[in-house]
Amino acid sequence: MDAAAASRVMRRVASKVKAYIALGANLGDPPSQLRAALEQLRAIAAVEVLAVSAFYRTAPLGPPGQPDYCNAACAVETALEPEALLDVLQAMENAAGRKRGGERWEPRLLDLDLLHMEGRVAQTPRLILPHPQLHLRAFVLVPLAEIAPDLLIPGLGTVRELAAAVDRCGLRSWPESPYRGNGPAVTAPRD
Ligand code: ADP
Ligand code: MG
Repeated sequence: MDAAAASRVMRRVASKVKAYIALGANLGDPPSQLRAALEQLRAIAAVEVLAVSAFYRTAPLGPPGQPDYCNAACAVETALEPEALLDVLQAMENAAGRKRGGERWEPRLLDLDLLHMEGRVAQTPRLILPHPQLHLRAFVLVPLAEIAPDLLIPGLGTVRELAAAVDRCGLRSWPESPYRGNGPAVTAPRD
């Protein structure tokens, strides 16, 4: 193989794709934890943060009596394989003090879900792509629609269409959001 062919192979193996990540927290100081997570992502050489949504305040799923969530979404570009990106996200969750093995949807200091990676699907116990609840969750779709409205989720439609169809009850803007969303306004009433 000549040098040009080798370089073409390398480029293919190492080609970057866009990936979309949901961020959430409802313990401690949730917006600070999201800001810190975004700073950590920016500091990882293998991950380039392309866009960040506004922050949203969301009524929690799961056991009653939990504090509200702060949620956001970000778009990144990376040459990491999906499982390797999930490793990065789970290491960040652990470093933020996340405890595992408790009840489903229990309160957490940091939740980082891999929503979608362009051209990638996965169906293993550890990683399902696209994220199986992506199309059901306003706290994922509304922020994602700010930064990737035309993103096509295979078999489901565009993020814009999915966000327009989802029930936004319980979702509000986070008043001191450090990022300005540039997408559709949240129409749910404030308390
Ligand atoms: P949730 O985010 O749905 O509240 P958890 O954060 O507790 O749930 O994640 C539970 C498990 O889901 C993790 O151990 C992880 O391996 C798995 N998982 C499967 N697909 C994904 C994905 N696309 N993004 C993040 N975690 C995933
Ligand atoms: Mg998660």
